Amino acid sequence: MTPPSHLAYVPFISVENMMRLVHSIGVETVLKELADAIEHDFTRWQLFDKTPRFGCHSETGVIELMPTSDGEFYGFKYVNGHPTNTKQGLQTVTAFGLLANVSSGYPVLLSEMTVLTALRTAATSAMAARHLAPKGAKVMALIGNGAQSEFQAMAFKAVVGIEEVRLYDIDAAATAKCARNLAGSGLKVTACRSSQEAMEGAQIVTTCTADKQFATILTDNMIGDGIHINAIGGDCPGKTELHKDILLRSQIFVEYPPQTRIEGEIQQMSADHPVTELWQVITGEAEGRTSASQITLFDGVGFAIEDFSALKYVHERALKTGHFVQLDMIADPDDPRDLFGMLTRAGEPALA
Ligand code: NAD
Repeated sequence: MTPPSHLAYVPFISVENMMRLVHSIGVETVLKELADAIEHDFTRWQLFDKTPRFGCHSETGVIELMPTSDGEFYGFKYVNGHPTNTKQGLQTVTAFGLLANVSSGYPVLLSEMTVLTALRTAATSAMAARHLAPKGAKVMALIGNGAQSEFQAMAFKAVVGIEEVRLYDIDAAATAKCARNLAGSGLKVTACRSSQEAMEGAQIVTTCTADKQFATILTDNMIGDGIHINAIGGDCPGKTELHKDILLRSQIFVEYPPQTRIEGEIQQMSADHPVTELWQVITGEAEGRTSASQITLFDGVGFAIEDFSALKYVHERALKTGHFVQLDMIADPDDPRDLFGMLTRAGEPALA
């Protein structure tokens, strides 16, 4: 499908088209390309408008808006996090997002972002691990086997070279689902009965659990020297996954400190607890892992620039492949100042 020149129509990527788009490129290629796109935007970090996301909190979860701009494009994502949703057959996290042209303010893309968030979160985690994990890491423990888990496994295979994932979830059905989905992925998949068992022989541990509390998914005694921890489930005030003692032993890497101090594992620490900004590791302004025995922690909460990179990536790919539909979303009167006239004419009986 050729994109029409008509400015007022906005390309829309539905869930179905997002899935078609991903399959037309290949899941692992998408994860690799997204990791590269996000990494590239992290090298342009200072260009972006940055703010902690706006959260609307309730007893059951949070609804957030995540805006940013690089001066040429503006993007935002609407995303929720409701850990008890799965009990009602609803997902914990759903999202959609928009990309707009800064010069006109006109949207250039509206997209589903539930699938895209899982892809971009996994790509960000793997991109961070490319800089922080011990060299030659082959085994990853994956604790929390819900919606995000397979995406994490595939991204670490594609971007970091992980060969085995060791799964654990308090719900054995989630682990069975994850193992089923990863069969045939090329990864060795081992289902474990405890997080301790999942950690055996792992050089990387990913925690992606959902619980609206200060949880302790990992305790200090489980973390040996040299481990890289990719903690993505603690992403909200009052919602963490790691025991504080682990943070005291780790070199901590974050996306945007003003947001992570509110939402990440480091909300358990004092406001001046030292952290390194991931973008500075990527640009070479700060050191990443400095020794084989160091414990590195990516305290990932998800930042607007990652969604911006993901929206730009799918925008370009969807326009090339035609995996979108046009939405009549922006009013387009012939005379831009005659909006009311356009409305009036729409109510007139059609001429025979
Ligand atoms: P999900 O509800 O589909 O899966 C969560 C899984 O965690 C469930 O299978 C549950 O049984 C398991 N779990 C809960 N407590 C556990 C425990 N103590 N030990 C082991 N397993 C446990 O959720 P999801 O969509 O996979 O999201 C996972 C987490 O990641 C959520 O907290 C979500 O908010 C977060 N998230 C973070 C980012 C980011 O950018 N950092 C992006 C998306 C989602």
